[in-house]
Amino acid sequence: MLTTRPRGTNDILPGEVEKWQYIEEIARQVSGQFGYHEIRTPLFEHTELFLRGVGETTDIVEKEMYSFEDRGKRNITLRPEGTASTVRAFLENKLYANPQPTKLFYIGPMFRYDRPQAGRYRQFHQFGIEVFGSHHPSVDAEVIGLACEYLERLGLNQLKVHINTVGCPKCRPQYREALIKYFQDKKDILCKTCLGRLEKNPLRILDCKNTQCQELSLNAPTIQNSTCSECQIHFQQVQNYLDSVGIEYIVNPKLVRGLDYYTHTAFEILVQGIGAQSAICGGGRYNGLIEQCGGKPTPGIGFAMGMERLLLTLELQGISLIANYNNPEIYIATVGEETEQLAFRLAMQLRKKGISVEKDYLDKSLKAQMKTADRLNVKYTLIIGEEEFEKNQVTIRNMATSQQNKIPISDIISYIERSLRGK
Ligand code: ATP
Ligand code: MG
Repeated sequence: MLTTRPRGTNDILPGEVEKWQYIEEIARQVSGQFGYHEIRTPLFEHTELFLRGVGETTDIVEKEMYSFEDRGKRNITLRPEGTASTVRAFLENKLYANPQPTKLFYIGPMFRYDRPQAGRYRQFHQFGIEVFGSHHPSVDAEVIGLACEYLERLGLNQLKVHINTVGCPKCRPQYREALIKYFQDKKDILCKTCLGRLEKNPLRILDCKNTQCQELSLNAPTIQNSTCSECQIHFQQVQNYLDSVGIEYIVNPKLVRGLDYYTHTAFEILVQGIGAQSAICGGGRYNGLIEQCGGKPTPGIGFAMGMERLLLTLELQGISLIANYNNPEIYIATVGEETEQLAFRLAMQLRKKGISVEKDYLDKSLKAQMKTADRLNVKYTLIIGEEEFEKNQVTIRNMATSQQNKIPISDIISYIERSLRGK
């Protein structure tokens, strides 16, 4: 136990962390260029928020939440997703009083009691965006466009964007009825879970992973026949915007969201090669959510992207992320105690100048230190042996050319600055 991490969690080690920093940096860069601002909300919230904001009949709330009672007897849940918290922060901090719409993004860990496998973990990370306060179809297209631009900038290809409309509170009840009618006389074929869903939330049957339910769903009525003209116009406009910038998509009438506060656009980005876990991004409009969470009726839309699945896909597509592993620029090798103290002082002074420096901490032999300098791939090694120490000098070795020079200690900082930075 003591040396094993909890199931479904990961250590992100040096070497791997740089890839995370890179994909996070590009996420911030793209979000910034699209006019989105970062928000950081707590990793835990009142359980009630997710019951309301995610929905009681979702997989997340039914079986995936990490919930506990804290020492003050409050019901707390580790956040399983980012939208509910962002809505809560929007309302609590009255962000609606600013010029609208509010455009936010977040990057961080989420927690779900999922069944761990490749691309599915219990602590995983999402990059997500949310726009509150506009129902304009160009916002839907912008949100999809931002996701595509991000993935493209990372070099991903073979992406499939699926889009659909899930209607609105005016037209969806009709679709519900149509579905209930269709599945009613097929009750004995439906799985047990879907049987329970039939009255409560028939749209979720279309989402079921059970093969028999999936086969039944193939011939189920699609929402296109039930949507009102307003929804149809909005959906057509979203497509026109996407067309106008050459974003390719597939209209997938089976792409649904079961809950009442989801409205209009739903979308998913799928990639090939990561097996069953092929969705790296899911999003859509939720014009009913903010009101559901206690705010004034306010339209909203967003997406969430799975960063682990993103990294897996990048690897599978052979895209190597810039390995800017943080190697030091300078290594200081010493012989004996007094020279070590000098190395310590020199290292501190150089770091103050913004130069990355490494030294020995284990009283290793000079030969072993030179080996370390080699392995760290530094640009220069400073060698302070007894002779140098007596003469107040340092030997500086250019590791690329193996050329060595002796420099007075008093000149060494400016010499290195000149060599490294051309100052
Ligand atoms: P799935 O059907 O794969 O469980 P989901 O519908 O639960 O996905 P969303 O809630 O839409 O997923 O989350 C958005 C994205 O977050 C997913 O497309 C996926 O990339 C990622 N994601 C969701 N759950 C996990 C998990 N347990 N581990 C890693 N990534 C995840
Ligand atoms: Mg899930």
